[in-house]
Amino acid sequence: MQNLLTSDAPLGESDRLERLALGQANQAHAQTQTMYGPVVQFMQLPGSDLEQFEFISPAAFLNYLSSACNEFSNMLAFPNNSATLLLYGDEMTPGNPLRADGGRALLNFYYTFLEFPSWFLHKKDGWFVLASLRSSLIKQINGGVAGLITRIMRTLFVDDSTASLSKGIFLKVGNKTELIHIKFGGFFGDEKGLKEFLDYKGASGVKPCIGCGNVVNFEHKVAKRDLGEIVTLAEIDRTKFIQMTGPEVYRMHDRLEEIVTTRAKGFRDRLDGLEIKWGVNYNPHGPLADRALRSIIDPVQHYLRDWQHTFMSSGVAVLHIASVVRVMKAKKIEWDVLDNFSKEWVYPRTLKPHPDLFGKKYFDRKELKVKHFSSDVLRIIGILNMFMQLVLKPAGLMLADCHCFNLLHRITVILQRSPRMTPTLHATLTGLIDEYAEPYAKLYDFAIKVKFHHMLHLPDNWLSLGWILSCFVTERKHKDLKLASLHVYRGVEHTTTTNFLNWYMQEAISGRLRFKCNYLINPRVMSLPAGCSHAHAAEPIYTAGSMQTQCGLACKGDLALIKLPSSDASGDAGAQISECVGRLCGFFTSNDNDFYANVELFTPVDTDGYDWDMSSPSSEIINATMISWLLTYMERRPNVISICMWRR
Ligand SMILES: [Zn+2]
Repeated sequence: MQNLLTSDAPLGESDRLERLALGQANQAHAQTQTMYGPVVQFMQLPGSDLEQFEFISPAAFLNYLSSACNEFSNMLAFPNNSATLLLYGDEMTPGNPLRADGGRALLNFYYTFLEFPSWFLHKKDGWFVLASLRSSLIKQINGGVAGLITRIMRTLFVDDSTASLSKGIFLKVGNKTELIHIKFGGFFGDEKGLKEFLDYKGASGVKPCIGCGNVVNFEHKVAKRDLGEIVTLAEIDRTKFIQMTGPEVYRMHDRLEEIVTTRAKGFRDRLDGLEIKWGVNYNPHGPLADRALRSIIDPVQHYLRDWQHTFMSSGVAVLHIASVVRVMKAKKIEWDVLDNFSKEWVYPRTLKPHPDLFGKKYFDRKELKVKHFSSDVLRIIGILNMFMQLVLKPAGLMLADCHCFNLLHRITVILQRSPRMTPTLHATLTGLIDEYAEPYAKLYDFAIKVKFHHMLHLPDNWLSLGWILSCFVTERKHKDLKLASLHVYRGVEHTTTTNFLNWYMQEAISGRLRFKCNYLINPRVMSLPAGCSHAHAAEPIYTAGSMQTQCGLACKGDLALIKLPSSDASGDAGAQISECVGRLCGFFTSNDNDFYANVELFTPVDTDGYDWDMSSPSSEIINATMISWLLTYMERRPNVISICMWRR
């Protein structure tokens, strides 16, 4: 799975020039008429200065794509013909993201369905574009971002138009046409995005968590005055949280509305005070005020936290890394030792090595920041943990820090390897997060922010969905939208949307975009030695040096954990001897359905499964579904490797 977090398979021969030509010449897909109208439609914003904007109608788009692409239509066989829509929204800046004015920032909305298989939910092409709108236009919409969300949700689920999802949509499923029922499953995004969608106060309010009635942010001045039966962001005892429900949040908004509409004496002061206290803003155009949306949106259940934002970007893991760096500095541990250690590790081929992963300039121990992209932060967790376990711990240095960081690594390994959330995994993960939170709160009390609290909610959030979700995939999706909006200065919404749509449809129809979990990249027909007669001439064998697998793009030469038949499938398999380490040497198939890999399997050096001897590997052919994780490793002694994995 870790490669699904960082890369999608290259789409073969598709290149930029072709994309550009498509964008200019082929507008046909956007104008295609379906039974739900054209694929690109206008969303009306009555009463706002911005009256309408263009978006890709999900009903029309899915209807069109399912009829144009068989591989996609085969994916729509949902249980009971029903699907659950997740809506993601986030800001993206084309061009230079460091421009002080934010440049031409776009607010992008994507969606997917929970019933898709996990590999598709973790692929950027498994998230469909709904709309891309200049952020500068938001102020022209009544109610701001929350007002826009109201219109989007009404358009998708309430309005009585033919393209509304509320009555279900007809899609081609395999060889038949089926009516697919669609319900709403939740909002997905970063903390800032989620609070803007529903107009919560978030981290800036006294009550930063909408799910808990009594958790307060002590940095807020109101909290300093008003200490009731409350707990702080550092609280790790879950039994002390007073759980809020969706109807309770609606009631709070109704009380605010009552104060405004009756204009009670001193209402402005009371309103401000209550908004801060309850963590909810009064917004007459927001989704909380819209009675028609109350049967569709649950403001607590549908606030979906993801682990990329909770742990990575300014999240718990970043604060943890910066705190460890701070302690290392205080203990006078030489940075160069860590830097040199980090350069010994070898990554899977698709993870491009960062030239300066442990460059000092990326670590700000005063502000507790790590100036790296999330995928690099994930890498740092692995390598820094190995440094602590293999170098500091044996030297008796920073033992409490080593224990705590090992738990963080273990959590992130499980999150990467286990997309499906089962009750067993829920219990494991809840226990592990609690076990981690306790030493963290003691060692780094200066580094407790709102995301530390959100971390405690993650297992429950995911159990209700059945999946462990992260925004790594949607962040990668932004790259496609950046390409579609590059050098577009006029009619930004129209051009970005149609450019993207035309490119996606063309890739899907041409077969370059595959709706399959496993496939070979640039396969070749295996040539047989001269004079050798081929017994199965009707079935050529295709071979390739790289292959898209359930754990991402695997390449010849990569080291992988190979699941042995007796292996524990719960996803909590750390380094266990029931999994073997081997080198991938090539991939083949004869039917584009069953895939195999040539591997060289290594021998374990000891029983814990961390060190492997490469000197006399055994060659085997395995089913490609047995490849369960692509490894980062280091050769610690000649022919003996250590794998990057949390340590027992
Ligand atoms: Zn909470």
